[in-house]
Amino acid sequence: MIARRIHVSGVVQGVGFRPWVWQRAASLGLVGWVRNSSSGVEIHAEGDHAAIEAMLASVAHQPPPLAAIESVTTVPANPSGASAFVILDSLDHPGGSLPVAPDIAVCDDCLREMHDPADRRYRYPFINCTNCGPRFSIVLGIPYDRANTTMGPFRMCPECRAQYDDPSNRRFHAQPIACPGCGPQAALELNGRVVARREDAIARARSILAEGLIVAIKGVGGFHLACDATDTDAVARLRSRKRREQRPFALMCRDAATVFRFVPEDPRREAILRSPERPIVLFPAIDPGAIAPGVAPGRAELGFMLAYTPLHHLLLEPAGGFPDVLVMTSANLSDEPIAYEDDDARRRLAPLADAMLLHDRPIRMRTDDSVVTAFEGRRVFLRRSRGFAPLPVALPLDGPPTLAFGADMKNAFCLTRERHAFISHHIGEMGTVETERAFEDAARHFERLFRVHPHRIAHDLHPDYASTRAALARAGSDHLPAVAVQHHHAHAASCMADNAIPPDRRAIGVIFDGTGYGTDGKVWGGEFLLCSYASFERAMQLRYSPLPGGDAAARRPYRGALAALRAAGIPWDRDIAAVRAATLQELEILEGQINAGINTPDSSSMGRLFDAFASLLGICHRADHEGQAPCLLESAARSSPTDDTAYEFTIDDADIDPSPALRAAVRDLRRGVDARTIALRFHRGVAAMVTACCRRLRDEHGIGTVALSGGVWQNTLLMELAVPMLRAHGFTTLIHYNVPANDGGIALGQACVAHAVIAAAPHP
Ligand code: ZN
Ligand code: ZN
Ligand code: FE
Repeated sequence: MIARRIHVSGVVQGVGFRPWVWQRAASLGLVGWVRNSSSGVEIHAEGDHAAIEAMLASVAHQPPPLAAIESVTTVPANPSGASAFVILDSLDHPGGSLPVAPDIAVCDDCLREMHDPADRRYRYPFINCTNCGPRFSIVLGIPYDRANTTMGPFRMCPECRAQYDDPSNRRFHAQPIACPGCGPQAALELNGRVVARREDAIARARSILAEGLIVAIKGVGGFHLACDATDTDAVARLRSRKRREQRPFALMCRDAATVFRFVPEDPRREAILRSPERPIVLFPAIDPGAIAPGVAPGRAELGFMLAYTPLHHLLLEPAGGFPDVLVMTSANLSDEPIAYEDDDARRRLAPLADAMLLHDRPIRMRTDDSVVTAFEGRRVFLRRSRGFAPLPVALPLDGPPTLAFGADMKNAFCLTRERHAFISHHIGEMGTVETERAFEDAARHFERLFRVHPHRIAHDLHPDYASTRAALARAGSDHLPAVAVQHHHAHAASCMADNAIPPDRRAIGVIFDGTGYGTDGKVWGGEFLLCSYASFERAMQLRYSPLPGGDAAARRPYRGALAALRAAGIPWDRDIAAVRAATLQELEILEGQINAGINTPDSSSMGRLFDAFASLLGICHRADHEGQAPCLLESAARSSPTDDTAYEFTIDDADIDPSPALRAAVRDLRRGVDARTIALRFHRGVAAMVTACCRRLRDEHGIGTVALSGGVWQNTLLMELAVPMLRAHGFTTLIHYNVPANDGGIALGQACVAHAVIAAAPHP
């Protein structure tokens, strides 16, 4: 008989870990105990050597499905002579910390019970267990127990209490445990008045949706606006109520088989679609059949997710001719944060929705749906939020606790503690009172949950970013040092950290982005950086061209096109669509503006070059969000017939001139070449240019690792063209897998640079 004390760290609380250990110990004949601590789970195991080894192997290699083990350490202990294995009360080490689990889709066991007429939770829309259900969105504080969640006020009934206390039960210490007798309930509101409750509420919502109306639905991390995605009028009405914004709407189906009635089958994407995180997955939309064209205008892809709460499953039941696919789009106007509080939702969503399907389980932390695509069969983030936040990403280097504020668009922050980078959920566009409040609230919440008080602030170099102002305000009020990090250096560092590149390594950062403040005060975004975490050197760049209106040009791609044409020496002839998009008077004003250099900052942005091509081809002249024009250009290129031509860029020393590509495109347009083919030739040209530049930099500097980052790299067609080409030339090619390539991943890079800068600073 020997005894061992085992400490397990990682995501091990709120995931059914202790009852699993208890059951495993019982089957192995071990005695002792297991308990949660604020730094993980502790196990005291007594028994024969083989049984203890078997327990260790199970913990390390076959933990319960939602657990993510980081480390398992053991020390010898004195046998206590216990006669059984028990679960002890939690131990709270002051200062200890451990990850909080994300919100996870309802599991198959719970769904089976929900469909079993003999089960007491039959058709109960808030069924959950230790393997599934809400977590991050309902956590108020740590340790993670019932009182520290928004389920605190719901008194458990005796049956639920018995399950909660029984270590052999699947719901042992499932904090959100609930049943129809004691848990949250659904309600349907029309014009601010409850007209139906419980099952009736869902039935009414279904009939309202089936009539082609719009229902606001409260989910796990916020509200969705839903309508029948096959009803062209309903989709058009939703678009017009959302102020005609052009962003594609996400779709929801009850199961994968239904999804594949609209998009081609794809086993890799199906696996991502079915994963317990249930992200929105982009699928090529070759012949989407009955889906209303207004769902994703101009896009070659559709975003689908599967029902992920029990309420969604009840809502989407196939009976009675109910639509097979619903639009489920974040319930907000354009750039506002997603609505998540009932009263706020009533106020903001009243003009958008015909009815509201609510429930009385409060949401503490809003989390938008995550959006992913697949590259070479692997999941790649476009937005990392529900299902993933607040899980940490591993940091490649040590440093003091740091809060990195990110940038202004599609923002998420990053809070570090030791080697953990806790990346926030999607916060959104900074610069409004709502988002800044949301940011502040979320950052303080993370600091409490992970027991981190930042010793250092990291932020973007841009002096006018709202995130920079917020960072400097925080640094000032808390007397903390602040590190300003150049935007594209942060992107490169983020991609290196995402791939666990150690701090002594350098990479060629190919950073293609919409915008970012350069060290010369100009607008960067088409950069080749030689960089480590600690420093960077700008080795090559897309040639500067004057951008009338600066960052505002992102909303008017034709202006970028006009500036690019001018820079390439191509006259503004009226046969070019981008020229026709401007009035004669506007052309005159722009001409004067460019000549006089008024409000026309120099820009090397690759995102703006993609904008320019989109407008040149008549694909998009006005965008209602950043990235719209490049996405439409990618969609056009994807639908082109096969073509091997690649437009040329002139590469001269540090300067990359796109003029030859622009001239070739205009020539092809005049010859009547299909716009989609021109779009493809441009993509091919960019990929070839990237490879040529990287080869040159490798020859000169001996760096064979390339990091692809910046929002332009969310273009998977560009990745499909560039990555194999780089590999074929022997480059180690890094892309993002754990955080998005766009500004949603930039805070991770800021934190790494801040750590490296401190490490590199001379010690007094
Ligand atoms: Zn479950
Ligand atoms: Zn109950
Ligand atoms: Fe960026």
